[in-house]
This record gives sequence, C-alpha cells and structure tokens, in this order.
Amino acid sequence: MVIPLSNRLSYKQARLTVVVAFILGTLLSLVQVSIDYANEDASINREIHALQQISHNPAARIAYNIDSELAQELLLGLLQSPSVIRAEIIDSSGGTLASVSRPRIDSRYRVFSDFLFRDSRIFEDPLFVSHAPDEPLGVLRLEVDTYPYGATFLSRAALTMVSGFVRSLLLSILLLVLFYYTLTKPLVSLIHALSERDEKSSKRTPVACPSGHEKDEIGVLVTVTNHQLESVSKEVDQRREAENRLTEYLGELENIVSARTAELKAANNRLLQSNADLDQAREQALHTAQLRSAFLANMSHEIRTPLNGLLGMVALASDGPLNDEQREQLSVARESGKVLMDLLNDILDLSKFEAGELQLENIPFDLASLGEECATLLSQNAASGVELSCLISPQLPTQLLGDPTRVRQIINNLLSNALKFTRQGQVTLELRMNARQVEIELCDTGIGIAEDAMQRIFQPFVQAAPGITRQYGGTGLGLALTRRLCEAMHGELLVQSTLHQGSRFCARLPLPVHTPAAALPQLQGSVFALCPDSSGLQRQLSLWLPALGLRYEHSAHLPESMPDCDLLICNTPEQLVALREKTSTPLILVSSYGHFLSQTASSTLAPLQQIAQPLTRQTLLSQLREHVLHQPRLQVVNEQQAPLQHADILLVEDNPVNQMVAKGMLLKLGCRVSLAENGEEALQQLAQQRPDLILMDCNMPIMDGYEATLRIRQDSRWADLPIIALTANALADERERCLQLGMNDYLAKPFRREDLISTLRRWLPPTSGNQA
Ligand code: ADP
Repeated sequence: MVIPLSNRLSYKQARLTVVVAFILGTLLSLVQVSIDYANEDASINREIHALQQISHNPAARIAYNIDSELAQELLLGLLQSPSVIRAEIIDSSGGTLASVSRPRIDSRYRVFSDFLFRDSRIFEDPLFVSHAPDEPLGVLRLEVDTYPYGATFLSRAALTMVSGFVRSLLLSILLLVLFYYTLTKPLVSLIHALSERDEKSSKRTPVACPSGHEKDEIGVLVTVTNHQLESVSKEVDQRREAENRLTEYLGELENIVSARTAELKAANNRLLQSNADLDQAREQALHTAQLRSAFLANMSHEIRTPLNGLLGMVALASDGPLNDEQREQLSVARESGKVLMDLLNDILDLSKFEAGELQLENIPFDLASLGEECATLLSQNAASGVELSCLISPQLPTQLLGDPTRVRQIINNLLSNALKFTRQGQVTLELRMNARQVEIELCDTGIGIAEDAMQRIFQPFVQAAPGITRQYGGTGLGLALTRRLCEAMHGELLVQSTLHQGSRFCARLPLPVHTPAAALPQLQGSVFALCPDSSGLQRQLSLWLPALGLRYEHSAHLPESMPDCDLLICNTPEQLVALREKTSTPLILVSSYGHFLSQTASSTLAPLQQIAQPLTRQTLLSQLREHVLHQPRLQVVNEQQAPLQHADILLVEDNPVNQMVAKGMLLKLGCRVSLAENGEEALQQLAQQRPDLILMDCNMPIMDGYEATLRIRQDSRWADLPIIALTANALADERERCLQLGMNDYLAKPFRREDLISTLRRWLPPTSGNQA
C-alpha cells in the first residue's frame, strides 16, 4: 500500500517541527538583529564622539588662533572618516572659519538604512581652551551620514536571517529522515505485513516486528496486533467450522425434505386417486340412493293412493248400519291399514335421510298448540288406566322457528310409544324452554327399557326385547327416525329408563324464538282440585292457576268441610257423588273418554262439565272464565270439531274415490263441501261464492292445481284465501313447489282424518265456523 508523501506521518511530523523551528528561529534572529541594531546605533554615536574628542583640542587651538588654514587641514582630516560628509568650524561670532563636505553615498538599500538610523546626524562640539573653559571659542560641527553603518547592519541582519532559514531547512530534512527511519518505515512495513496477511489460509504466521523496534511502541503494537489477530483467527476458524457443519446439515435436511416430498407426492397421488375413486363411489351411491328414494317415493305413492281409498272406504263403511261383528271386522281392517300407512311413511322418511333429501322448514309455529293437538289426537290410544297430561310451561314462547311437521313427528313418535308401552299410571308430555333450547319431554310409568337395550333401540328395526312386536306391535323405526330428526335440527334425543318402572325421553332442540311468551290474562277467584298429589292434572293446575292470578288449593281426599271456592276440578269420578253432597259449586270432571259418566249420572251431579284428558290450556281458560257455572252442560265438548262446524270448503279433486273419501271426512266434521273436478271448474265456482278454504289436488286434467292456484293468487279478492295442496307425490321438493306457488299448506295423500283436522284448524279463519 503506497502512502503519498504529504500523508505520511514522518512528513507531517517533520513539517510541524520545521514550522515550529522556523518560527522560533525567526523570532530568535529578530531578537539578535534588534540587539545588533541597538549596538550599531550606539556605535555611530560612540565613534563620532571619539572623533570629536580627538579633534577637540586642535580645533579649539585653531579657533583660538583663528587659523583658517589649519582649520581647513583639520577638517579635511575629519572628512577622511567614512561616515563624516561635512565638517565646519564656526567661530564664536558665528562665522564659518572653515568648512569641508562631500556627497553622501547613494544606494538602493539606503531607504532601509535611513528608515532604521535616519539619513544623517549632526554633532556639535563647543570649543574652548582648558585654561578658560568658560570662554566659548566657537563650535566644531560634524554632519554624519548613517548609511555606512546601516549598510553594515543590513548585510549582517540579512546574513543572520538567511542562516536561520538554512538551519531550519537543514533541521527539517534531518528530522524528516530521522522520523522516516524511526517511525514511518517500521509502520509501513507493519502495514505491508498486515495487508499481505491472508486470514483464510491455514498457515498464519504472526506479524514480524521491524528490527530494532522490539521494545518500543511499535513492538508493543505488533504484540497486541498479533494477539488480536490470533483471537480473530480462532473465531474465524470456529465460524468456519460451524458454517461447514451448517452446510452439511442443510445438505442432509435438503435430502430428507426431497425424500419426504417425494413420499408425500406419492401419497398425495394415491390420495387423489382414492379421492377420485371415493367421489365416483359416492356419486354412484348418491345416484343409487336417489334412485332408491325416488323409487320408494313412487312406490309409496302408488301404494298410498289405493290404501287411502281403502281406508276412506272402510271409515265410511263403518259409519253405516252394521252388526257388531261387521263393525269389529272393519275396525281391524282400518287399524291394519293405518299400521301399513305408518310403516310406509316411516320407511319413506328413513329413505329420505339416507338419500340426504330431508329438507327442514324454518317457519314460525306454535309448539304448545302443536303438543296439545298431538296429545289430544293420540289420547284415544291411552289405556284406560293411564292419565295423559300436557304440562306446558307458561314461559314457553308463543311461536318458535322450525319445521312444525317434523316436530309433530317427534312428539307423535315419542308419545305414541309412551302410550303404547304404558298400561297403568301416567304419561306426561312436558314442553319447556331451557337455556335457549326447547325441551320436549315424555315421561311414562310403562314397562321401561333394560340398561343393555338403551342404545340398541335407536337402530332401525330394532326393539328393546324379542317379544315386543308380538305383544305391542311396532316396526322399530320410530326412535331411529326421531333421533335422526333431532340431529337434523342440531338437537339431541336423550333417554333415561328403568325396567318395569318407566321411561323418560327428552328431545332438546335449539329452535330460535319467533314470538316470546304472551302475558297471561289475570283472573280473580279460587279453585279447589280433588285429585291425587302426583297426578298430572294436579301438576298442571299448580303450574297454571297461580300464574293466572287464581287462588288454588288441592287435596287427594275429600275434605271434611269444603273450602269456599268458585270452581271444583276433579279427576276421580268415584268421589263425585260424595263431593256433590257437600257442595253445589260448579264442577269439572277431567277424565278419559272411557271414564265419562252417563247422561243420567251427570245430570244428577249438575252443575257438571265433563272434559276429556288431556286438559288443554284453551279449555282450561274458557272454563275458568266462566268460573261460576249455573247451567250444567252435559254434552262432551268436541274440541276438534267445534271450529270446523259449518266451514265452507271447496274440494278440487278429479279422482272419484279420493273425492268420496275427502268429502266424507269433511261432512263428518260438520263442514259444508262443494266439489270441483278441476282447476277451471274451481275458478268458476269461486267467482260465484267465496269458500272459507280450498283443498286443491295438484294433478288434474284441463287445469291442474298449480295453475289454478296461480290464477287465484293473481286476483286480489282471493289473496288471503287459504289453499291446501292435496298431492300424492311424497317427495320433499313437492311441498316447496306448492308453497312457492302460493298455497298455504300441504296434505300428502292419503291423509289421515287427524291430519285433515289439524290442517283445517290451522288455516280456517277463526270466525268461519261460528258465524254460520
Ligand atoms: P316401535 O315401532 O317398535 O315402537 P321405536 O323405534 O319407536 O319402534 O322403538 C324401539 C323400541 O324401543 C321399542 O320396540 C321398545 O322396545 C322401546 N321403547 C321405545 N319407547 C319406549 C317406552 N316409552 N317405553 C318402553 N320401551 C320403549
């Protein structure tokens, strides 16, 4: 590495030293020159004074003698002195005795000399003789040119200054050389040694110390540098080693990764292949399931239509004049038909699950009314010793969002099982809200389920024990379907049971609330109930009566003295006579149809109202509103029929058998029925008279039900007229299609009387029957 001279340390040091030495030398030279100057200045005066002293006496005698010749000689002698340019002797009277002069020396350096010493000086020496010192004889006047002194001084001063500069120059060269050899050269060699050093090479020798510098600062610098280099080398070695190891490891890792990638690729390919196979298999399975489901739906449709005709005809025939044996035979035929229909429906539903075709609705519905409807409809299945009750929480929301048909199916399945397997005791349907979930609970005191059968019963076609079908009937499909329905609604179905003691099934469904529970009407009065402590009726009354603001008391036994009350409710007919003897307060008897009193018995116990179990909220409320019953009402109130009486129904149906069945059912319910064979006829009839509701078959000649519905809905007069679709197509999307076209509800043919009743009750305007 070459360092320019001006950057070198030795140069910088030499330059600094020379500058300092120059300034110092100049200052010293100046001092010397100044001293010299003072000396020179004084020497001028001294020399002239000496000259004056020598010439004083001769000049005095000459003045005394007034000898101008001698005076001239003396003055010429004085003029010999190089500095004297004029000499005069003046007598005492002021006259010039003698005077000599010569021109002053001219030179270009004069100006400096004149500046320093003045150009000339005049010296006067008064003349007297020694024996008469006080008598002045005249004056000896000398004019001195200072230049000869000045020139000598200037040449000496120039010499002094020049020698000073030369000394400085020599000193700086000397120092430069010295510094170069003592500092720059060893440092430069050190720099060379360091810059040529290769840290990567394995042979690394320590930096050599320039000879002669082992013990001075350069030697120390080399030692320290060697130490540092050594530790840096060690670190570099360690890093290199670590780097090598890392590179090695990375190489290994890369190998592993590429091996794994290859493996994964292969696995992925296998997976893709198997996925493709699975997809194909799934597609095939779905296709097969769809085919099967469509086949089943069609089959069920094909079977349902004649079965509907069969059941309808049997129902109509059993109302005709028959002897007991024929009636019994027809009843067996009807029951068998119903079982066949239920089985068909269950198989159809199960096949829908398997085909993934089950679609759930999400519409507002009244769960409490739905539960009561199911219980009322199925109450006829209750054994005579069974008390069926509905415990509906007063806090249950008025409307929930969900699929009412499927919720009804869940309740029906659980309730029909409970009633089927309970011969004695109680069957209770409880509906309540618990932590944003609806709980549908069915408790019975029936035969119970063995521990080991608890899981099995949820499998299709499986029953808890081998003899069950023989003894109780059933297909083993109900619970399997119910559990799947609960799961499809994101809920669960729980079971607890003890053999021979009873079972508790609870369906928990997270159904959103549509309309919260309405505030209950507040009544005044008191009610006394005579019923066992554990009876469903007692639980129901204690749940509802205080919530309605009524005072409520109950006793299991007839009290000695009757409490003062507005209404008596009882579910033990055997105690009625004794009860009536004690009080004439209006009385309600809640019991199953089988335990109803004869007309004569009930009239002797008046005022008495007989109500079939389960006691619904509506019935309870209407009875409570009457709370003092003066007029006995002996006939049983038919809850299912009352609102349907005199309702005007337009039945649009082309099939004569179906016409007969549906018309028969409707007439029996007390409805007025008009018939139309197709959509066109229906529209003509509509133009003449507006019915309360239309039952519309979908597939008809001339104009089908879909077209007819579209036309009806286009007319604003009939925008809110309830239209119920009647269709034999049991597929899920059929219902959707009907609803989309503007129909209000859907009845799958063949429909049961109960289905017809509940659908009519749901859609008939509340005033329709009563107005007529
Ligand atoms: P089934 O048509 O046979 O009633 P389910 O699937 O509804 O079919 O019930 C399966 C089995 O579970 C029944 O056969 C019965 O053994 C048992 N089971 C269901 N509910 C009850 C109940 N409430 N009490 C006793 N056993 C019941």
